Amino acid sequence: MTPRWWAVLTLGGLAVALLAVALLTIPWQRPPAPRADQVAALATLPGEQVERAREFRATLRPSTWGGLALGLVLALLLGLTPLGARLVELCGRPFGDHWVAQALLGGFAVVFLADLLTLPIGAWRHTVLVRYGLSTQGWGGWAADLLKSYAVSAVIGGLVLLGFYTLTRLAPQWWWAFGAAGAAVLVVLLSFVLPVLVEPVFNRFTPMADGPLRTELMHLAARDGVPVKEVLVADASRRTRAVNAYVSGFGPTRRIVVYDTLLEEATPAEVASVAAHELGHAADNDVFTGTLLGALGAAAAVVALYLLGSWTGVLRAAGVDSIGEPRAIALVIAVATVAGLVSSPVQAFVSRRIEARADAHALALTGDAATFESMQARLSTVNLGDPDPPRWEYLYGATHPSTVERMAAARAYDRGER
Ligand SMILES: [Zn+2]
Repeated sequence: MTPRWWAVLTLGGLAVALLAVALLTIPWQRPPAPRADQVAALATLPGEQVERAREFRATLRPSTWGGLALGLVLALLLGLTPLGARLVELCGRPFGDHWVAQALLGGFAVVFLADLLTLPIGAWRHTVLVRYGLSTQGWGGWAADLLKSYAVSAVIGGLVLLGFYTLTRLAPQWWWAFGAAGAAVLVVLLSFVLPVLVEPVFNRFTPMADGPLRTELMHLAARDGVPVKEVLVADASRRTRAVNAYVSGFGPTRRIVVYDTLLEEATPAEVASVAAHELGHAADNDVFTGTLLGALGAAAAVVALYLLGSWTGVLRAAGVDSIGEPRAIALVIAVATVAGLVSSPVQAFVSRRIEARADAHALALTGDAATFESMQARLSTVNLGDPDPPRWEYLYGATHPSTVERMAAARAYDRGER
């Protein structure tokens, strides 16, 4: 059997594994609560606040989609014409066309060009966030965040580029097998490492101070049977007024993080409601599930990329001989961009179902539907979220059920329906 047939077989196996894990771990049977409850919930929200949130979202909308379109056009322009290959060659020239220079500098150049093109959009969006009072950052802080995220991407991206092109050079026929394994390991590694190494680059995390709230949250976790070593408070107020909480990492790096803005804005009972949702993620091993799906998906993507490399038409368009050479970086990025845009609705759908399960967990754990509902209303108000967003936007990218869906779920729970 040729390496290509092995690759086809491997891709099939990965697809089956991905499907099996998805079928077993994702709560598919969790449709949103009745629309009538959603409409009733919407009616309880202050009209002018809903209007303001919708105006804010409408102001940002053209830049959201414009940015995506611009990124896509540039990726296709560089990836499906010889322009990207030329750019990579240009970057390697001062270094005697060495492959390391082509891989690293060429890769950075292609990504940086897209970043540079969308930078004005990002800057303009920042002015909107400041105008609506959501961002508390000046330009200095905004630029510092941007540079930090470039630095983090450069470190991770640099390692990926070096690793990938080392493999394609050492094993021209079999790089996809090692690459798939490497990609899966990387996803798992990042899941452990990001919370402890990368998150502190952007925020300071301090253990929640001793007091009635901390006692209540630890008590809640104990009652839930979820081991939580610490509840951490992030100094989110340095850049935003938005409130949030999340759980990240698993095993020894698992932590529940609440924004300091949440402690400022919400009542202690509401904070407990949010923490109960996060405990739901921990109890159902959602971070682990996400990591497993991500690892299988990354491995499948590498094998698919190898198989795509036998499509001579695409290679010819990109002006390259093989998908495994650094000159094909722009082509790889174009493929990844398209794959990301196409898979977004699927990822969003899966995420919404998992989030709805965590909501149900929070309701069952606290038994307090009224506080859950008031917390959802507050989240939406403070974060200037559209409580009932346009359907197409929701289907394309909403990672959480809408505010009215979450409020409606609380009402259904209160009636004993769930
Ligand atoms: Zn969640």
